[in-house]
Amino acid sequence: MKYSRMFIQTLKEVPSDAVTPSHILMLRAGLVRKLASGIYEWLPLGIRVLNKVASIVRRIHDEAGCLEVLLPTLLPKSLWDETGRWNEYGAELMRMRDRQGREFCLAPTHEEAITDLARTYVRSYKDLPLIFYQVQTKFRDEIRPRFGVMRAREFIMKDAYSFDTDEKSALASYEKMFGIYKKIASALSINTVAVRAKTGLIGGSRSHEFMAVSEEGEEELVYCPVCGWGANQELAKSKLPPASDEKELPLKEVSTPGARTVGEVSAFLKLPPSKFIKTLLYRKPDGEIVCALVRGDDSVDVSKLASVLGMEGELPQLGDEGEIEKATGGPLGFSGPVGLKGIRIYADETLKNCRNMTSGANKKDYHLLNINHPRDFNAEFVNIRKVKEGDICVNCGAKLKVARGIEIGHTFYLGTKYSAKMKAVYTAADGKEKTIVMGCYGIGISRVVAAIISQHHDENGIVWPKEVAPFEIEIIPTTNSGDAMKKAEEIYEALSKKYEVLFDDRSVSAGVKFKDADLIGIPARVVIGPRGLKEGKCEIQRRAGGSEMLSLDKISDSLVQLTR
Ligand code: ATP
Ligand code: MG
Repeated sequence: MKYSRMFIQTLKEVPSDAVTPSHILMLRAGLVRKLASGIYEWLPLGIRVLNKVASIVRRIHDEAGCLEVLLPTLLPKSLWDETGRWNEYGAELMRMRDRQGREFCLAPTHEEAITDLARTYVRSYKDLPLIFYQVQTKFRDEIRPRFGVMRAREFIMKDAYSFDTDEKSALASYEKMFGIYKKIASALSINTVAVRAKTGLIGGSRSHEFMAVSEEGEEELVYCPVCGWGANQELAKSKLPPASDEKELPLKEVSTPGARTVGEVSAFLKLPPSKFIKTLLYRKPDGEIVCALVRGDDSVDVSKLASVLGMEGELPQLGDEGEIEKATGGPLGFSGPVGLKGIRIYADETLKNCRNMTSGANKKDYHLLNINHPRDFNAEFVNIRKVKEGDICVNCGAKLKVARGIEIGHTFYLGTKYSAKMKAVYTAADGKEKTIVMGCYGIGISRVVAAIISQHHDENGIVWPKEVAPFEIEIIPTTNSGDAMKKAEEIYEALSKKYEVLFDDRSVSAGVKFKDADLIGIPARVVIGPRGLKEGKCEIQRRAGGSEMLSLDKISDSLVQLTR
């Protein structure tokens, strides 16, 4: 393809609403264009990448025996009423009416539709197991669409659904899909960690998220580089430190004028932060104030606290000065667990093994030394601390890593959550009617493109992995007239028979061509200039780094290696 015919719309300026590297690069390289908030158009260069991602995803599903289908985007309310999700799904569901006033939604996911398909055709245990998948546009009215196609309101998803006779077989399907997802991540050159995750609106009991490790990620994840264990921070655990063998000392009040934070009091008393109990007061949405305790060198994970408090979709908020004073009797900065009354106290499990700790005395300018459980306070021990880098893996004892991640895929074991409500049944070998056991699995095809860029770029632009690059080779003549252009055209004709080639035929300076080439990130470049030509040579440059001079008559063979 000639550059001049490819409608490549690169931008020099960074668009003002783009902050993440992948979003900036997708706009600057002209892969996508924003039409409205969370709604994007894929331009010719971008769609080539999107299609390659989709075709790799399809191939790996097909090889594993999954069956492709294409379900409607427009789904009737009646189907969603069967599972109760028409009401449960809330504002994210895009709802509409037809001319007769019948209600529909633009599907955000397809459990209901696919279960309806399965219950129509599946009759006997002999029809199972089955895995269907589709690559299709989904709609979600996200509360905060952002980061370009990463969190859009209209996006492309590959969703798959497994149908099995019983739990054992359904878990085998889950494992199979897990394997497929690992294979896809590796085929797409995305460095991922599979972490245990919450099940959210889709429901079910077992769930993993496939996280592309990236600073751009919206979620914090914890993983073990040795045994592969991983979890989202909101579900993560680490091994508790061993119990302290200190003897319990008598409780002692000390004056700490003006020192409020753990840092300030620790400097003042010359005690390490790990000898402190950090006491935080949170307000639930119903107004109740609860107390959360973690070690002084730890922090509270509010999502974990929300789970402990049985809260769904909302987070507890820190209490204000007035609320703290009312609940503890002391001012902000001097709270501690000793003597608190009429308030629920949740302590992180690490504190169970600590002795002679320091915390606020619930009195202005005073702290208490040698606080011991259960002598001085009572609490419910729970997991509410953020796991830190270097904490110990519960599984294998190695040091854990903490990173940010982009969720590119999600697997759920559903059991009979949908099939029971929708009466998707089959006749078992013993002639009895049984409910089908299900799983569902999603990969954000459009989000994957952004995730790949977030892991494969430098300060000049995208560095595409070969498998998904919009073209394999770019030909750049350094002058626009004479032999270089003619030779470039000849090489373009020859290479195009074997490769996907972009030929920069524009009448612009070599500098502009190189800048754009860096930005759009084609893996291999053939640079043809008058100096090289005199010796019958051209330069091969790899976008990822490295270059070599090649004899023009050998170019075709050498590129076989370059593009492999
Ligand atoms: P998130 O926590 O990021 O909102 P989710 O748990 O709602 O994701 P799923 O319902 O599991 O997502 O959807 C499957 C996949 O679809 C996700 O792993 C993600 O790759 C993609 N996806 C979900 N929401 C969006 C979105 N708004 N824009 C682009 N891709 C999305
Ligand atoms: Mg979501």
